[in-house]
Amino acid sequence: MIDNLPPLRDVIATHELAAKKSLGQNFLLDLNLTAKIARMAGDLTGADVLEIGPGPGGLTRGLLSEGARRVLAIEKDPRCMPIMAEIAAAYPNRLHAINGDALDVNPLEHLTPPIKVAANLPYNVGTELLVRWLTPPTWPPFWESLTLMFQREVAQRIVAKPGTKAYGRLALLAQWRSDPKIVLDLPPEAFSPPPKVSSAVVHLKALPAPRFEADAGTLNRVVAAAFNQRRKMLRSALKSVDPAIEDHLNAVGIKPTERAEQVGLEEFCALARSLKG
Ligand code: SAM
Repeated sequence: MIDNLPPLRDVIATHELAAKKSLGQNFLLDLNLTAKIARMAGDLTGADVLEIGPGPGGLTRGLLSEGARRVLAIEKDPRCMPIMAEIAAAYPNRLHAINGDALDVNPLEHLTPPIKVAANLPYNVGTELLVRWLTPPTWPPFWESLTLMFQREVAQRIVAKPGTKAYGRLALLAQWRSDPKIVLDLPPEAFSPPPKVSSAVVHLKALPAPRFEADAGTLNRVVAAAFNQRRKMLRSALKSVDPAIEDHLNAVGIKPTERAEQVGLEEFCALARSLKG
């Protein structure tokens, strides 16, 4: 037992929280597992934690029982708010829950550094937020680490190396400014209801500085275009980015006939610098 609150099955029954597909709701019901995921975020004592999509609160309770100074939980489903109020009462002054869309709410006014992020989110919201968290104009970002649950296939894209099928925009943006690692694999049965595919937890630690200099917006645009048409040669895949793309590719030593999959992070950063200059 990690706290004196009711088991998650009882919480869901009491609050009639039938899972909604439209909100990507697949809940973790094992509090030992959610505490384990919370520990993967590192030492939480003295840190504020931003949690996106707490649902019935399994991970929230894990984060609090593992010693987070404060948790800010942003949840779109209003049915979860009475559950958040019960958890807040059990952990006085340590949980602040906001009912809203994580893509719209600015959490920074409610958080004090050091800040860690933890979430088990629907896939599309998760990747969108990940890209935002990785591409602010300046670095280091507001967060020290991200501990995020993804579909296993997405997790593999985040840690992928050049020359592999999974290599693309997510790998480049993640590995440019952080050190991403898959720290836990979870089968569908770990969730209720079980999703169709396996999941994995990725831990990303923010590097003090990006591995190579580049403008975040330019790099994001270049890799998005390059991998949008990943089978094409770069000189045609990147034509939309700059009509003189071939000159830029040659200037930084990338063969214009190369495909995106073969180009490493350092070369993409050099290309972004050339385009920006
Ligand atoms: N963290 C809980 C757990 O592990 O059991 C719930 C995980 S469930 C996969 C995803 C949660 O994110 C749901 O509670 C859902 O309502 C919430 N959610 C979906 N879209 C959201 C959004 N745009 N902003 C905030 N929360 C969202």
